[in-house]
Amino acid sequence: MADDPNPLNTQNNGTLTTSTGAPVENDSNTQTAGWPGPSLLQDVHFIDKMAHFDREVIPERRVHAKGAGAYGTFEVTHDVTKYTRASFLSEVGKQTEVFLRFSTVGGERGSADTERDPRGFAVKFYTEEGNYDLVGNNTPVFFIRDPLKFPDFIHTQKRDPRTNLKSPNAMWDFWSLHPESLHQVTILFSDRGTPANYREMHGFGSHTYMWYTDAENYVWVKYHFKARGGFKTFHASEAEKWKALDPDHATRDLFDNIENGNFPVWDVAVQIIPAEEAPTYKYDIFDVTKTISQKDYPLIPIGTLTLNRNPENYFAETEQSAFAPSNFVPGIAPSFDKMLQGRLFSYADTHRHRLGANSHLIPVNNPKNASGSNYQRDGAMMTGSNGGRGPNYYPNTFGGPQEKKDISVPQLSVIGAAARQDYTHPNSDFVQPGILYREVLTEDKRVQLIENIVGALGGAVKRLQYRQTALFYLVDEDYGSRLAKGLNLDLNRVIELSKLSQQDRVQATLDDEAFREVASV
Ligand code: NDP
Repeated sequence: MADDPNPLNTQNNGTLTTSTGAPVENDSNTQTAGWPGPSLLQDVHFIDKMAHFDREVIPERRVHAKGAGAYGTFEVTHDVTKYTRASFLSEVGKQTEVFLRFSTVGGERGSADTERDPRGFAVKFYTEEGNYDLVGNNTPVFFIRDPLKFPDFIHTQKRDPRTNLKSPNAMWDFWSLHPESLHQVTILFSDRGTPANYREMHGFGSHTYMWYTDAENYVWVKYHFKARGGFKTFHASEAEKWKALDPDHATRDLFDNIENGNFPVWDVAVQIIPAEEAPTYKYDIFDVTKTISQKDYPLIPIGTLTLNRNPENYFAETEQSAFAPSNFVPGIAPSFDKMLQGRLFSYADTHRHRLGANSHLIPVNNPKNASGSNYQRDGAMMTGSNGGRGPNYYPNTFGGPQEKKDISVPQLSVIGAAARQDYTHPNSDFVQPGILYREVLTEDKRVQLIENIVGALGGAVKRLQYRQTALFYLVDEDYGSRLAKGLNLDLNRVIELSKLSQQDRVQATLDDEAFREVASV
């Protein structure tokens, strides 16, 4: 049975107080000089209350603004100590508290939960060696492979600078200029772009990470969170329906199910890629637009994740929760994946902007082990001990915290020039979306995929429809042909465009006039 949603604040015996604790004798009438009279500046309770209200809204996340979160437990079910020294993974049966925040990506804080969009799947493990954040998504890949393109990409998903409307032209212009997006675009426009809720969808770490046992021994790892019962999706029409019926559908579904004791469970697994196999594997394991075939590197079960407790207060816990892929624990480290490298900076930087320099002291973000055992001091909202009377410099001979020398992360050799390097790995951007289209999607899902793309790409100008359809044709001839038909494009022209280099294809689709034919239906 759910608690009374509005329990009385029982602190201070239920007495209403100002924010500094003084009792309030009247919270209904502002002070005025006579009746009706002008209001008085001396009504400090009114000023305290109104000034705080004026500051209630904090900056929303630039991406993943709309979210829902819950607490739970991660339990180790299989021994992985030969791969990692991470303490929270050290023993079968070991349990670690987690906080998981789900989100859509592009929409604002009040946007609908059933928008076609990837979903964020961010897990904070409160381990005894500090917080470990795995900031994943519900898809195994991403649209781009270089973080320098991230602000541009997100601008195309947000609102047009003039109309303040979403812009199909911007979206498809960007995607068609970045063929590495084809894999994620195919997933996004499949039924998995509209999950039925947050509870019954998979999560992925997406990037490749390093697991190590000591300074010499490491492997590369990919994380998979498989929803028990499978990945449930909405048909596009159902998703549309829910947008109108209940824009907060997934938020409500998560809260109600946890409140009613129907706890969502994920089986957690990893793919382990031995370090020596990575350089010769057919796909670039550091390119987040690619997956690692589960046939080559099968899933190895490691644990279960169960969500079992709703936050008490949405703002304090879910809105102020802050995840950063840079939050590692000994035994886990980043890889060379450039998108991950960019995120190592960007997430923590966002929190400094959104929540301030001491966001780690907010209870939902506060590590459960010895937080603040370092020489960082002061800053806005210092609500901890701030190091107390201890020394605020290192090294010192006054008993301050010391380095822990035995956590040596493997040292990786690098050679080459410090420069902006072109992407040169020979793996193709067309192969994996082609496998997905031909071998993974069933015919009914292919039909949905085509319908969904036709609906969205049909909103862009013709030249972009041609450029993008030529790319889909390169993924798979049937894929491109069906889209050409759905969009009433001249298939021969699509095929001609598909034979050009990407540079020439872009050049050939710069001019609107040549593509301005009217659709035949
Ligand atoms: P497998 O046949 O072993 O795995 C196929 C995977 O595709 C399963 O994980 C399946 O999820 C997932 N899937 C099913 N429908 C969709 C969809 N609409 N969108 C995204 N994923 C879906 O094959 P491989 O590992 O060799 O990979 C083949 C292709 O599968 C890849 O090119 C990639 O496009 C896709 N894929 C691969 C993943 C990986 O990590 N290897 C992960 C997800 C997709 P489920 O288990 O729920 O059925």
